[in-house]
Amino acid sequence: MQPGGHRFDPVHLHQNFYFMYSLQDKLSRFPFDEMRSRIFGKIIVLPFLLIFPQLAACAQENDDALFAQMRKDMVHEQIIARGIKEEKVIAAFRKVERHKFVPENLQRSAYEDHPLPIGYEQTISQPYIVALMTELARLKPEDRVLEIGTGSGYQAAILAEIAKQVYTIEILKPLAESSQKRLKELGYKNIQVKWGDGYLGWEEFAPFDVIIVTAAPDEVPRALVEQLKTGGRLVIPVGESFQELKLITKTKDGIKEKSIIPVRFVPMIKSK
Ligand code: SAH
Repeated sequence: MQPGGHRFDPVHLHQNFYFMYSLQDKLSRFPFDEMRSRIFGKIIVLPFLLIFPQLAACAQENDDALFAQMRKDMVHEQIIARGIKEEKVIAAFRKVERHKFVPENLQRSAYEDHPLPIGYEQTISQPYIVALMTELARLKPEDRVLEIGTGSGYQAAILAEIAKQVYTIEILKPLAESSQKRLKELGYKNIQVKWGDGYLGWEEFAPFDVIIVTAAPDEVPRALVEQLKTGGRLVIPVGESFQELKLITKTKDGIKEKSIIPVRFVPMIKSK
């Protein structure tokens, strides 16, 4: 023991140094930076994670409201103002979300007054023409309808809102598949889509109360007239570059044909 001084204890001193050293070493090896960046990362990301679904939902609501307004305007300016009167037809146009039947990049044009491309050189018809053809068909709730040319499935959905059952045939396989998927996702249980040739009709489910053809043949396909019930209506564009929309009625006294207006549809494809 040294008087007035500290006891020199090399063992303790060493232990103290060792403790200090190892603490420092541990601290220096502890991943503070990583932890800090993790914590800060979470603090920064967390609000976004919390807000993002709400922002997305908000954007979706805005879009829905915008499309609803466009649909309302379409019904007034293109459907009612041009003389479509049948309340069931108008109600179907108010309900069916046309923007869900067009490619995503064209959704904002879905309610405009013209046809739109849907791929494979095909088009979804102008809203007014879809409405006119639907009104001409004089659909009743118990009717079974055949459509030729499913395309996007929009006309089929409109028909399915009014009639009991819709059968629709599409000759292009990718369109038949995509419209079938779309109509299923939208919850339509009364529409049956078939990939096939519309010139032949759909014998299995014939006769039909109504047949609507949305591609133009050069002349009225015989099978379609045959598959129409007596009292049934066939609405069909006929012709090559100049086409006429025709309403054909099958009566017990024979076939009655009436020209409605000149139209322009994609040509009906003949299968080889
Ligand atoms: N009704 C559709 C628009 C149809 S465009 C809609 O609401 O979107 C015409 C469609 O008829 C095209 O998809 C075309 O591929 C189809 N089509 C053409 N010839 C056909 C045929 N022989 N049989 C069945 N579908 C045909």
